[in-house]
Amino acid sequence: MNAEDLTEIERAGRRCGVCRSGRGWRRFEIVRPAEREPIVLCGSCRARFGDDPPVARKPEPEPTSAALKLLSPPKPDAGERRTDRRPDRLRAALGKLPGSFSTAMAARAAGLNNDKTLARLHDLERRGEVQRVGNRWSTGPPPDELATAMDRLAARTNNLRIVRDRARVG
Ligand SMILES: [Zn+2]
Repeated sequence: MNAEDLTEIERAGRRCGVCRSGRGWRRFEIVRPAEREPIVLCGSCRARFGDDPPVARKPEPEPTSAALKLLSPPKPDAGERRTDRRPDRLRAALGKLPGSFSTAMAARAAGLNNDKTLARLHDLERRGEVQRVGNRWSTGPPPDELATAMDRLAARTNNLRIVRDRARVG
């Protein structure tokens, strides 16, 4: 290793330019591919890539607009995405419905059949946009389970207190 190599290794932070390993950096090698910056390589990357490591290559030419067009056609198998791109009748209808509604009400409002509406409601439920409350749906926030539990606990505690007070009286 000469002084110039050492400078390159130091400049690379004593790390391999490919795998970023710093192990055994004293045995690192420098390759100088044509028209590229010198590249510091650890022993295994040197063995693997030789004089053409996959870093610091000249940037790929910009894709032409024709190539971009080829990349952009929508994928017909992306079912959910396709649904999303269409104006969502159900979502629009939800805005007009009361906070709590049945599947049939949503279906009527959206002009969809019940099965389709139910499937979409389940979909929206997974996204947290609607909640199932009993056999109805709600666009409001989910029922606060903690508050409900506290209410139940409070009710039970009151009963206990009544019993205890009675006991004390007796
Ligand atoms: Zn390496």
